[in-house]
Amino acid sequence: MTTPQSLKESIKAAAAELGFQRTVIASLEPMETERQEYERWLALGYAAGMEYLKRNPHFRTSPQLLYPEGRSAIVVSVSYYSEVPPPPPGFFGKVARYAVGLDYHAVIRAKLRELNARIEKIAGRKVLAKAYTDDVSLFEQGLAARHGLGFAGRHTLIIGPELMGTYNFVAELITELELDADEPYAGTCGKCFRCGEGCPTDAIEYGVGVNANKCISYLTIENKEGIPLGLRKQLGRWVFGCDVCQDVCPYNQRPNAAPWEEFSPDKGAGHYLDLFSILELETDEAFRERFAHTPLRRPKLRGLARNALAVIGNILAEESQSSDCKITQEDLDKAAAKLFKFIESAPESMLKEHAYWALAQYKCENTRKKLRRFVDRETDSGVSNLAEQYVLSS
Ligand code: SF4
Ligand code: SF4
Repeated sequence: MTTPQSLKESIKAAAAELGFQRTVIASLEPMETERQEYERWLALGYAAGMEYLKRNPHFRTSPQLLYPEGRSAIVVSVSYYSEVPPPPPGFFGKVARYAVGLDYHAVIRAKLRELNARIEKIAGRKVLAKAYTDDVSLFEQGLAARHGLGFAGRHTLIIGPELMGTYNFVAELITELELDADEPYAGTCGKCFRCGEGCPTDAIEYGVGVNANKCISYLTIENKEGIPLGLRKQLGRWVFGCDVCQDVCPYNQRPNAAPWEEFSPDKGAGHYLDLFSILELETDEAFRERFAHTPLRRPKLRGLARNALAVIGNILAEESQSSDCKITQEDLDKAAAKLFKFIESAPESMLKEHAYWALAQYKCENTRKKLRRFVDRETDSGVSNLAEQYVLSS
């Protein structure tokens, strides 16, 4: 006979068989304390341009409203970790680990549907359930931290037993089954603040969380504007997302490897992107085809091209000032020539401005002279003022 306890254990065993590293059961009670903290974070303006996060915090923290048929949430986590190979020489940008494979939304939802099919077999009847992962309508992190998946680290990601760090996706299956909720997990960061100290843009505030206005993940993915001038250099080589606060976290010393091949870099965009190949994509259709079924579609072609230009600028700066050059002078000049060509046919002012900025980072007298000529005949007034500043400071 299936008892509530044995049903819960069987569900956790079924989730583990599918590859989820940790499963906990959460209640659907409104998350009052979490809502207040979340509203404080919103009031500080730290959601930046993510309007969808600002809408109706009450709804986001009330899972019962989201799925009225639900009685409990099965909260799971799965690793996306893969080792990062050494960077290829040349103009390549880094991709955050979570995005190197196929789009996790589709992959995880399919696994959660499979989990529900197994639960139906165990329960011996049809079970109503709805799958969520990285869903704007649900405050997932609160649900996970409330019931023992782990605790929220100062970088805001969940750290917990069996998770072996933070390179994990969190997802939920809200089910009509009444299951006993698990207790919270009592972990802490202690006195550590390595994530905040290591963050290239000082985006993490002690005791507050991440200020998305400064976070490279936001700036390179959700942000629809240009990369702020004051933060462009700090992007370093990150062309999509950023892993620094996770890479320095002491909880990430022995991460679990991703259990599913869909998260392997061979299946998606991989750990590094050829930056000029992005600038060569001429249409949105070509972009969608190149990055089909991967998370890299999120910023669209203009966003990824913007990021590529910023990273090219950083590589030009680094290589033209370093005594340990990895790129030949000839290849640096070729890169500059491609940027001049890009300016001549840039589809919009924002991208053109980023291309001027990138060229101004190259410490090369010939390029500086040519840049001067380009700026003098620039007719886009929104661009020419900034480009003038760049050439003066180059
Ligand atoms: S993702 Fe990068 S920029 Fe954002 S908080 Fe972490 S270290 Fe800072
Ligand atoms: S780096 Fe330190 S402070 Fe930041 S989340 Fe990890 S343990 Fe916590």
